[in-house]
Amino acid sequence: MIYDVIIIGGGPAGVAAGIYASRQRLKAILITKSFGGQMARKAVAIENYPGFEEISGLDLIKKFEKHLKKFTSLQSGKAQIKIELDSVSKVRKIGKVFSVLTGSRKEFKSKTVLIASGADPRPLEVPGEKKFIGKGVSYCTACDAPLYSGKDIAVIGGGNSGFEAALFLASWARKLYILEYSPKVRAEESVQEKARKTGKIMVITSAALKKVEGTNFVESIVYQDNITKKMVFLKVGGVFVEIGSQPATSFVKGLVDFSERDEIIINPKTMQTKTEGLFAAGDVSDVVFKQIVVAAGEGTKALLAISNYLQKNG
Ligand SMILES: Cc1cc2nc3c(=O)[nH]c(=O)nc-3n(C[C@H](O)[C@H](O)[C@H](O)COP(=O)(O)OP(=O)(O)OC[C@H]3O[C@@H](n4cnc5c(N)ncnc54)[C@H](O)[C@@H]3O)c2cc1C
Repeated sequence: MIYDVIIIGGGPAGVAAGIYASRQRLKAILITKSFGGQMARKAVAIENYPGFEEISGLDLIKKFEKHLKKFTSLQSGKAQIKIELDSVSKVRKIGKVFSVLTGSRKEFKSKTVLIASGADPRPLEVPGEKKFIGKGVSYCTACDAPLYSGKDIAVIGGGNSGFEAALFLASWARKLYILEYSPKVRAEESVQEKARKTGKIMVITSAALKKVEGTNFVESIVYQDNITKKMVFLKVGGVFVEIGSQPATSFVKGLVDFSERDEIIINPKTMQTKTEGLFAAGDVSDVVFKQIVVAAGEGTKALLAISNYLQKNG
Protein backbone atom coordinates (compact mmCIF):
# COMPACT_ATOMS: atom_id res chain seq x y z
CA MET A 1 0.00 0.00 0.00
CA ILE A 2 1.38 3.40 -0.97
CA TYR A 3 -0.15 6.38 0.82
CA ASP A 4 -0.61 9.79 -0.78
CA VAL A 5 0.88 11.43 2.30
CA ILE A 6 2.52 10.43 5.55
CA ILE A 7 2.29 13.15 8.21
CA ILE A 8 4.90 12.92 10.99
CA GLY A 9 3.81 14.63 14.22
CA GLY A 10 0.66 15.10 16.30
CA GLY A 11 1.14 18.72 17.38
CA PRO A 12 -0.86 21.66 15.97
CA ALA A 13 0.90 21.50 12.55
CA GLY A 14 0.41 17.74 12.11
CA VAL A 15 -3.17 17.67 13.40
CA ALA A 16 -4.26 20.57 11.17
CA ALA A 17 -2.61 18.84 8.19
CA GLY A 18 -4.35 15.58 9.13
CA ILE A 19 -7.77 17.24 9.16
CA TYR A 20 -7.14 18.79 5.75
CA ALA A 21 -5.73 15.54 4.33
CA SER A 22 -8.93 13.82 5.31
CA ARG A 23 -11.13 16.50 3.84
CA GLN A 24 -9.07 16.42 0.61
CA ARG A 25 -9.84 12.65 0.46
CA LEU A 26 -6.14 11.76 0.41
CA LYS A 27 -4.91 8.32 1.41
CA ALA A 28 -3.20 9.56 4.56
CA ILE A 29 -1.56 8.30 7.71
CA LEU A 30 -0.39 10.40 10.67
CA ILE A 31 2.44 8.90 12.70
CA THR A 32 3.18 10.49 16.05
CA LYS A 33 4.87 9.62 19.34
CA SER A 34 2.01 11.32 21.18
CA PHE A 35 -0.59 14.04 20.69
CA GLY A 36 -0.13 17.67 21.56
CA GLY A 37 3.60 18.22 21.29
CA GLN A 38 4.91 21.26 23.08
CA MET A 39 1.46 22.33 24.30
CA ALA A 40 1.76 19.50 26.85
CA ARG A 41 4.64 21.37 28.50
CA LYS A 42 2.70 24.60 28.87
CA ALA A 43 2.50 25.36 32.58
CA VAL A 44 0.04 28.23 32.49
CA ALA A 45 -3.10 28.70 30.38
CA ILE A 46 -2.91 29.44 26.66
CA GLU A 47 -4.44 32.85 26.03
CA ASN A 48 -3.67 33.48 22.36
CA TYR A 49 -5.41 30.73 20.42
CA PRO A 50 -8.45 32.22 18.68
CA GLY A 51 -11.78 30.99 19.96
CA PHE A 52 -10.45 30.26 23.43
CA GLU A 53 -9.85 33.22 25.72
CA GLU A 54 -8.10 30.92 28.17
CA ILE A 55 -7.52 27.18 27.87
CA SER A 56 -4.99 24.81 29.39
CA GLY A 57 -2.51 23.12 27.05
CA LEU A 58 -3.89 19.70 27.93
CA ASP A 59 -7.49 20.74 27.20
CA LEU A 60 -6.53 22.22 23.83
CA ILE A 61 -4.65 19.02 22.97
CA LYS A 62 -7.75 16.95 23.79
CA LYS A 63 -9.81 19.13 21.45
CA PHE A 64 -7.23 18.81 18.62
CA GLU A 65 -7.06 15.04 19.06
CA LYS A 66 -10.86 14.62 19.20
CA HIS A 67 -11.29 16.72 16.07
CA LEU A 68 -8.74 14.66 14.13
CA LYS A 69 -10.06 11.33 15.37
CA LYS A 70 -13.49 12.22 14.05
CA PHE A 71 -12.01 11.61 10.60
CA THR A 72 -10.68 8.13 11.44
CA SER A 73 -14.20 6.75 11.83
CA LEU A 74 -15.69 8.03 8.56
CA GLN A 75 -15.83 5.23 6.01
CA SER A 76 -16.24 4.40 2.30
CA GLY A 77 -15.60 7.34 0.02
CA LYS A 78 -15.77 9.80 2.87
CA ALA A 79 -12.88 11.45 4.70
CA GLN A 80 -10.62 9.02 6.53
CA ILE A 81 -7.14 9.09 8.02
CA LYS A 82 -5.16 6.39 9.78
CA ILE A 83 -3.36 7.21 13.02
CA GLU A 84 -0.27 5.30 14.14
CA LEU A 85 1.20 5.96 17.60
CA ASP A 86 4.88 5.34 17.00
CA SER A 87 8.19 7.13 16.67
CA VAL A 88 9.64 7.69 13.21
CA SER A 89 13.28 6.60 13.11
CA LYS A 90 14.16 7.09 9.43
CA VAL A 91 12.79 8.65 6.25
CA ARG A 92 14.32 7.52 2.93
CA LYS A 93 13.48 8.22 -0.70
CA ILE A 94 13.77 5.23 -3.00
CA GLY A 95 13.05 6.26 -6.58
CA LYS A 96 9.88 8.32 -6.37
CA VAL A 97 8.55 6.65 -3.22
CA PHE A 98 9.26 7.57 0.39
CA SER A 99 9.88 4.86 2.95
CA VAL A 100 9.21 5.76 6.59
CA LEU A 101 10.59 3.44 9.26
CA THR A 102 9.37 3.49 12.85
CA GLY A 103 10.75 2.56 16.25
CA SER A 104 8.60 -0.55 16.30
CA ARG A 105 10.20 -1.65 13.01
CA LYS A 106 7.22 -0.95 10.77
CA GLU A 107 7.63 0.48 7.28
CA PHE A 108 5.15 2.81 5.59
CA LYS A 109 5.39 3.97 1.97
CA SER A 110 4.08 7.16 0.46
CA LYS A 111 4.21 9.53 -2.50
CA THR A 112 4.81 12.51 -0.19
CA VAL A 113 5.86 13.11 3.42
CA LEU A 114 5.06 16.07 5.67
CA ILE A 115 7.47 16.54 8.56
CA ALA A 116 5.64 18.24 11.44
CA SER A 117 7.73 16.84 14.27
CA GLY A 118 8.16 20.19 16.04
CA ALA A 119 10.82 20.62 18.66
CA ASP A 120 12.13 18.94 21.80
CA PRO A 121 13.34 20.80 24.89
CA ARG A 122 16.95 21.92 24.51
CA PRO A 123 19.09 20.02 27.00
CA LEU A 124 21.47 21.67 29.46
CA GLU A 125 24.41 19.49 28.42
CA VAL A 126 26.08 19.64 31.82
CA PRO A 127 27.35 16.73 33.96
CA GLY A 128 24.58 15.15 36.02
CA GLU A 129 21.71 16.18 33.71
CA LYS A 130 21.17 12.78 32.06
CA LYS A 131 21.76 10.83 35.28
CA PHE A 132 18.95 12.68 37.07
CA ILE A 133 16.27 12.82 34.35
CA GLY A 134 13.10 11.74 36.16
CA LYS A 135 15.01 11.97 39.46
CA GLY A 136 14.94 15.71 39.92
CA VAL A 137 15.66 16.98 36.41
CA SER A 138 12.48 17.80 34.47
CA TYR A 139 11.64 19.37 31.11
CA CYS A 140 7.89 19.56 31.75
CA THR A 141 6.61 21.79 34.51
CA ALA A 142 2.97 21.09 33.67
CA CYS A 143 3.60 17.34 34.07
CA ASP A 144 5.91 17.21 37.10
CA ALA A 145 5.29 20.26 39.34
CA PRO A 146 3.20 18.48 42.03
CA LEU A 147 6.07 16.02 42.64
CA TYR A 148 8.17 18.87 44.03
CA SER A 149 5.95 19.95 46.89
CA GLY A 150 7.84 21.74 49.67
CA LYS A 151 11.19 21.65 47.84
CA ASP A 152 13.62 24.37 46.80
CA ILE A 153 13.83 24.37 43.02
CA ALA A 154 16.02 25.87 40.31
CA VAL A 155 14.48 26.86 36.99
CA ILE A 156 17.14 27.23 34.31
CA GLY A 157 16.28 29.96 31.80
CA GLY A 158 15.04 33.50 32.32
CA GLY A 159 12.74 33.86 29.33
CA ASN A 160 8.94 33.86 29.43
CA SER A 161 8.88 30.05 29.63
CA GLY A 162 11.26 30.04 32.61
CA PHE A 163 9.24 32.65 34.48
CA GLU A 164 5.92 30.96 33.67
CA ALA A 165 7.37 27.66 34.89
CA ALA A 166 8.51 29.30 38.14
CA LEU A 167 5.12 30.95 38.65
CA PHE A 168 3.39 27.60 38.18
CA LEU A 169 5.85 25.83 40.48
CA ALA A 170 5.33 28.50 43.15
CA SER A 171 2.10 26.73 44.21
CA TRP A 172 4.15 23.72 45.33
CA ALA A 173 7.77 24.75 45.86
CA ARG A 174 9.13 26.30 49.04
CA LYS A 175 11.59 28.55 47.24
CA LEU A 176 12.50 29.06 43.58
CA TYR A 177 15.64 30.26 41.86
CA ILE A 178 15.55 31.36 38.22
CA LEU A 179 19.03 31.10 36.70
CA GLU A 180 19.69 33.21 33.61
CA TYR A 181 22.99 33.05 31.68
CA SER A 182 22.85 36.65 30.41
CA PRO A 183 23.18 39.78 32.59
CA LYS A 184 19.44 40.50 32.03
CA VAL A 185 16.39 38.25 31.97
CA ARG A 186 14.35 38.16 28.74
CA ALA A 187 10.87 37.63 30.20
CA GLU A 188 8.21 40.28 29.65
CA GLU A 189 7.97 42.86 32.45
CA SER A 190 4.39 41.84 33.34
CA VAL A 191 5.52 38.24 33.94
CA GLN A 192 8.48 39.43 36.01
CA GLU A 193 6.11 41.54 38.08
CA LYS A 194 3.93 38.49 38.82
CA ALA A 195 7.06 36.59 39.88
CA ARG A 196 8.14 39.36 42.27
CA LYS A 197 4.67 39.33 43.87
CA THR A 198 4.99 35.66 44.89
CA GLY A 199 7.82 36.58 47.28
CA LYS A 200 9.22 33.09 46.61
CA ILE A 201 11.18 33.59 43.41
CA MET A 202 14.80 34.78 43.37
CA VAL A 203 16.32 35.69 40.02
CA ILE A 204 20.04 35.06 39.54
CA THR A 205 21.54 36.57 36.36
CA SER A 206 24.97 36.00 34.75
CA ALA A 207 24.83 32.42 35.98
CA ALA A 208 26.32 29.58 33.91
CA LEU A 209 25.13 26.21 35.17
CA LYS A 210 28.06 23.80 35.48
CA LYS A 211 26.66 20.63 37.06
CA VAL A 212 23.74 18.90 38.72
CA GLU A 213 24.63 16.81 41.75
CA GLY A 214 23.09 14.27 44.10
CA THR A 215 23.12 10.61 45.06
CA ASN A 216 19.79 9.01 44.10
CA PHE A 217 17.94 12.29 43.49
CA VAL A 218 19.02 15.85 42.72
CA GLU A 219 20.44 17.54 45.84
CA SER A 220 22.26 20.58 44.47
CA ILE A 221 23.58 22.49 41.47
CA VAL A 222 26.79 24.38 40.84
CA TYR A 223 26.92 27.47 38.65
CA GLN A 224 29.62 29.94 37.73
CA ASP A 225 28.99 33.64 38.23
CA ASN A 226 29.96 35.03 34.79
CA ILE A 227 31.10 38.33 36.32
CA THR A 228 33.11 37.28 39.40
CA LYS A 229 34.02 33.87 37.82
CA LYS A 230 33.33 32.29 41.24
CA MET A 231 31.66 28.87 41.46
CA VAL A 232 28.46 28.95 43.52
CA PHE A 233 26.85 25.93 45.20
CA LEU A 234 23.05 25.93 45.56
CA LYS A 235 21.08 23.34 47.50
CA VAL A 236 17.96 22.41 45.49
CA GLY A 237 15.68 19.38 45.25
CA GLY A 238 14.76 19.85 41.60
CA VAL A 239 15.90 21.40 38.34
CA PHE A 240 13.42 22.50 35.66
CA VAL A 241 14.96 23.14 32.23
CA GLU A 242 13.52 26.04 30.22
CA ILE A 243 16.30 27.09 27.84
CA GLY A 244 14.43 26.75 24.57
CA SER A 245 13.87 24.03 22.04
CA GLN A 246 15.68 22.11 19.32
CA PRO A 247 13.98 20.89 16.14
CA ALA A 248 13.22 17.14 16.08
CA THR A 249 14.94 16.14 12.84
CA SER A 250 17.26 13.20 13.54
CA PHE A 251 15.28 10.86 11.23
CA VAL A 252 15.56 13.01 8.12
CA LYS A 253 19.24 13.90 7.86
CA GLY A 254 20.58 13.87 4.29
CA LEU A 255 17.25 14.71 2.65
CA VAL A 256 16.95 18.31 3.85
CA ASP A 257 19.07 21.42 4.44
CA PHE A 258 19.26 22.99 7.89
CA SER A 259 19.29 26.61 9.06
CA GLU A 260 21.89 27.76 11.60
CA ARG A 261 19.28 26.92 14.27
CA ASP A 262 18.97 23.33 12.94
CA GLU A 263 15.52 24.00 11.49
CA ILE A 264 14.53 22.39 8.19
CA ILE A 265 14.77 24.96 5.40
CA ILE A 266 11.61 25.13 3.29
CA ASN A 267 10.40 27.19 0.38
CA PRO A 268 7.66 29.23 2.14
CA LYS A 269 5.49 29.22 -1.02
CA THR A 270 5.61 25.49 -1.81
CA MET A 271 6.40 24.29 1.76
CA GLN A 272 8.86 21.85 0.15
CA THR A 273 12.33 20.96 1.37
CA LYS A 274 15.19 20.44 -1.05
CA THR A 275 13.85 16.91 -1.76
CA GLU A 276 10.90 16.80 -4.13
CA GLY A 277 7.78 15.50 -2.41
CA LEU A 278 9.19 16.09 1.08
CA PHE A 279 7.46 18.94 2.92
CA ALA A 280 7.87 20.45 6.39
CA ALA A 281 5.70 22.72 8.56
CA GLY A 282 5.53 24.26 12.03
CA ASP A 283 8.31 24.59 14.58
CA VAL A 284 10.53 22.01 12.85
CA SER A 285 10.81 24.34 9.85
CA ASP A 286 12.57 27.69 9.50
CA VAL A 287 9.28 29.59 9.71
CA VAL A 288 10.10 32.69 11.75
CA PHE A 289 7.30 32.65 14.32
CA LYS A 290 6.81 29.65 16.61
CA GLN A 291 3.25 29.71 17.92
CA ILE A 292 0.32 27.29 18.04
CA VAL A 293 -1.84 29.25 15.64
CA VAL A 294 1.09 29.68 13.24
CA ALA A 295 1.93 25.96 13.34
CA ALA A 296 -1.70 25.03 12.64
CA GLY A 297 -1.75 27.49 9.73
CA GLU A 298 1.55 26.22 8.34
CA GLY A 299 0.36 22.60 8.59
CA THR A 300 -2.73 23.58 6.62
CA LYS A 301 -0.68 25.42 4.00
CA ALA A 302 1.62 22.41 3.61
CA LEU A 303 -1.25 19.97 3.18
CA LEU A 304 -2.91 22.13 0.52
CA ALA A 305 0.46 22.42 -1.24
CA ILE A 306 0.79 18.61 -1.07
CA SER A 307 -2.66 18.23 -2.58
CA ASN A 308 -1.63 20.49 -5.50
CA TYR A 309 1.64 18.60 -5.87
CA LEU A 310 -0.18 15.25 -6.03
CA GLN A 311 -2.57 16.56 -8.68
CA LYS A 312 0.40 17.57 -10.86
CA ASN A 313 2.64 14.59 -10.12
CA GLY A 314 0.10 11.81 -9.65
C1 LIG B 1 6.67 25.93 27.48
C2 LIG B 1 6.05 26.42 26.19
C3 LIG B 1 5.01 27.34 26.22
C4 LIG B 1 4.41 27.78 25.01
N1 LIG B 1 3.37 28.67 25.09
C5 LIG B 1 2.72 29.03 23.95
C6 LIG B 1 1.56 29.88 24.00
O1 LIG B 1 1.11 30.29 25.08
N2 LIG B 1 0.96 30.20 22.83
C7 LIG B 1 1.42 29.77 21.60
O2 LIG B 1 0.81 30.08 20.58
N3 LIG B 1 2.52 28.97 21.53
C8 LIG B 1 3.18 28.59 22.66
N4 LIG B 1 4.28 27.79 22.59
C9 LIG B 1 4.78 27.37 21.25
C10 LIG B 1 3.90 26.26 20.64
O3 LIG B 1 3.70 25.25 21.62
C11 LIG B 1 4.56 25.70 19.39
O4 LIG B 1 4.78 26.75 18.47
C12 LIG B 1 3.69 24.66 18.72
O5 LIG B 1 3.38 23.60 19.61
C13 LIG B 1 4.40 24.06 17.49
O6 LIG B 1 3.58 23.07 16.93
P1 LIG B 1 4.20 21.92 16.00
O7 LIG B 1 3.04 21.07 15.59
O8 LIG B 1 5.04 22.53 14.95
O9 LIG B 1 5.21 21.08 16.91
P2 LIG B 1 5.05 20.38 18.34
O10 LIG B 1 4.04 21.01 19.16
O11 LIG B 1 6.44 20.28 18.87
O12 LIG B 1 4.54 18.90 17.98
C14 LIG B 1 5.41 17.95 17.39
C15 LIG B 1 4.76 16.57 17.37
O13 LIG B 1 5.63 15.67 16.68
C16 LIG B 1 5.79 14.47 17.42
N5 LIG B 1 7.11 13.90 17.09
C17 LIG B 1 8.34 14.45 17.31
N6 LIG B 1 9.31 13.63 16.84
C18 LIG B 1 8.67 12.55 16.31
C19 LIG B 1 9.12 11.34 15.69
N7 LIG B 1 10.42 11.08 15.50
N8 LIG B 1 8.20 10.44 15.30
C20 LIG B 1 6.85 10.68 15.48
N9 LIG B 1 6.38 11.80 16.06
C21 LIG B 1 7.27 12.73 16.46
C22 LIG B 1 5.65 14.90 18.87
O14 LIG B 1 5.27 13.80 19.69
C23 LIG B 1 4.54 15.95 18.75
O15 LIG B 1 3.27 15.34 18.75
C24 LIG B 1 4.89 27.31 23.76
C25 LIG B 1 5.96 26.39 23.72
C26 LIG B 1 6.53 25.94 24.93
C27 LIG B 1 7.66 24.93 24.88
